[in-house]
Amino acid sequence: KDKSTVSITVVGASGDLAKKKIFPALFALYYEGCLPEHFTIFGYARSKMSDAELRTMVSKTLTCRIDQRENCGEKMDQFLERCFYQPGQYDSEKNFLELDRNLKQHEAGRVANRLFYLSIPPNIFIDAVKCASSSASSASGWTRVIVEKPFGRDSESSAALTRSLKQYLDEDQIFRQVFSLIDHYLGKELVENLSVLRFSNLIFEPLWSRQYIRNVQFIFAEDFGTEGRGGYFDNYGIIRDIMQNHLLQILALFAMETPVSLDAEDIRNEKVKVLRSMRPLRLDDVVVGQYKSHTRGGVKYPAYTDDKTVPGGSLTPTFAAAALFIDNARWDGVPFLMKAGKALHDRRAEIRVQFRHVPGNLYNKNIIDLATNELVIRVQPDESIYLKINNKVPGLGMRLDRSNLNLLYAARYSKEIPDAYERLLLDAIEGERRLFIRSDELDAAWSLFSPVLKDLEDNKIVPEYYPYGSRGPVGSHYLAARYKVRWGDLGSDQ
Ligand code: NAP
Repeated sequence: KDKSTVSITVVGASGDLAKKKIFPALFALYYEGCLPEHFTIFGYARSKMSDAELRTMVSKTLTCRIDQRENCGEKMDQFLERCFYQPGQYDSEKNFLELDRNLKQHEAGRVANRLFYLSIPPNIFIDAVKCASSSASSASGWTRVIVEKPFGRDSESSAALTRSLKQYLDEDQIFRQVFSLIDHYLGKELVENLSVLRFSNLIFEPLWSRQYIRNVQFIFAEDFGTEGRGGYFDNYGIIRDIMQNHLLQILALFAMETPVSLDAEDIRNEKVKVLRSMRPLRLDDVVVGQYKSHTRGGVKYPAYTDDKTVPGGSLTPTFAAAALFIDNARWDGVPFLMKAGKALHDRRAEIRVQFRHVPGNLYNKNIIDLATNELVIRVQPDESIYLKINNKVPGLGMRLDRSNLNLLYAARYSKEIPDAYERLLLDAIEGERRLFIRSDELDAAWSLFSPVLKDLEDNKIVPEYYPYGSRGPVGSHYLAARYKVRWGDLGSDQ
């Protein structure tokens, strides 16, 4: 029989993220039987609430996934019975001691493991970590803390945050979370599958280098703007919000050498090597843009600065494209292009790997623009992996056509994919650190982007304005062209 117990404290339980994501994810885990036999969930925030009020609040956001319909109501009630609330300030040792007393009651003398999810604004992270660690950490089991991005604004502020965290926590207690923001499960499934694809199929790994790969593209596009929620975003901009963390993490996983094992430390060691082999990003290799208002079909779409929460005249980029290079033996000279933006013409998240030309291709004369192979790992829309190949059009002549070997997830796998937060919570409970960022990785990631961010801000560089719903600044095409690359998301794929 399991003698241990897990207490999960959602710090900032009254907030948006807690309601929208954390409690529903905890419920889904409970439904699936993934939580330990003994567990308790505590909401902690300053708002006054009783246990019953917390349960009512949480119950409003719980849903049953399609594959979790059976006994759903009953399961919800059982789940809610395990949820409690502790009001308190984020900087009060006394309040955290009260939480500790409450937790102990529920733990009832078992080996107590405690997970704190910091779902609060970053400026109060350290207060909460300090109090949680000094007054509410477990005496008998582990204590872990999940921290949401942003992790600072640049190298200095990120290092300062890490230093403060490390005053109260060891590295193995810190779970820095980056991948969940993009849509529901995007980050994690993609990241996991990237390694499976590469390391468990003979046909890819041998091609995974400068010898066969011409360039790699990481694209993340949203077809909507900040829609009245630009206040937070304006302080960060698209480079910090998407590139420096999500896309760069994916790049590192894509480009790393084969790790010794799937152990988190082995993978993170390889990732950090990639980041440290990267050439510092130059301002010349970055294009920034901001969406402007645009009228289409009689509908007027707003400019970024029309968002009431954005300061007038803001120069914050809502679009960026960058060319990066990894100066190691495997990737020498291969451009890694990134592109991320809001209010673009479509919603898309994908990795595109463009291969080199076939040397001395016999079929050069049969097709005007003989396409090279391209591997696309797409997360949205229509999650799929496809490989573009040249194929003969059936018939008497010799006509070539470019077509796709296509694995469409929806057609192959009908099971609903768990929300990223389910995965993240389960990983943190199980101590699986593969998808969390270690301090040295974070440092390396910031040192790559901080100088450019500083240049952009110090020199008040004006972004290239692009119409809402367009393909983004023309500058991104010039940037790609400089490295003889064409963005792969332009052509028709299907
Ligand atoms: P939130 O609603 O603004 O804040 C969460 C709770 O923190 C609030 O309910 C409030 O609780 C407390 N709080 C807010 N402002 C505070 C202040 N200035 N001083 C002290 N306490 C304050 O935040 P959220 O949207 O849930 O996000 C939580 C964290 O996750 C943030 O770090 C955010 O950057 C990150 N994040 C959010 C999302 C999202 O979709 N919302 C996605 C990814 C990451 P009380 O007043 O009851 O104490």
